[in-house]
Amino acid sequence: MENFKLAIIAGHGDKDSGAFANGVDERDINLVVAKEMERILCDYCDVIMTRTDNDTFLTPEQCANIANNSGADLAWHVHHNAGGGDGFDIIHSVFIESSESDELAKLLAIKYKELGQNEHGVYSKWNSSYNENYYAALRHSEITALISEFAFMDSLDFEAIDSEYKLKQEAKASAETIIEFYGLQKEIPMTWQEILIGCLDSPEEAIKFVDTNTEIAKLKSDLGDLDYKNLSDLIIKVYNYGKEQ
Ligand SMILES: [Zn+2]
Repeated sequence: MENFKLAIIAGHGDKDSGAFANGVDERDINLVVAKEMERILCDYCDVIMTRTDNDTFLTPEQCANIANNSGADLAWHVHHNAGGGDGFDIIHSVFIESSESDELAKLLAIKYKELGQNEHGVYSKWNSSYNENYYAALRHSEITALISEFAFMDSLDFEAIDSEYKLKQEAKASAETIIEFYGLQKEIPMTWQEILIGCLDSPEEAIKFVDTNTEIAKLKSDLGDLDYKNLSDLIIKVYNYGKEQ
């Protein structure tokens, strides 16, 4: 999908610490996961974060509205569970694009299981008296939205999230789910052709420059033409070196 935009919401923040167990505030680990997701996904799509520090307080409704107004296609709420239990919970929306949210949740469940987590629940929660989503984050969302709760903080399940490495693995699985589900492609800043056309006079000249330069030709075959970024950097270096001679 082109021009995909993602809103990542690190749940809680500032005076709202979320759950607290094993000496850890949920607010803090939500942020670690959200930031790692952003680091991975910013190469694939536009990412907006509702917070990037632990001193920002926004209600779930405010977070949902930021996501709504940002033009994002998906709002991803990062949380961790408490109340005793084992495994991940994934809560998808009852209403808005519910089939998309539902399918996304199913793929996420597969990825989390690959990390060795058990499934505690994949569901949507309905508030029947008001005929709306139970959770405010989803209730106020006008776009596809999902809440991920990878593990329980206050049971033996805490072992799944007790290091930065494990939290980053969780984030990686979440990011890979989004990449795979929406078919996102890594955004390449510029192809070597575009860079060289900027330096030289014509596409033909650019191709000749690459083909006749042994250093570039070697790297090009080593990379199999996949890593344009490295190739582009090398071309710029070789071009500038050539100019200095
Ligand atoms: Zn929470």
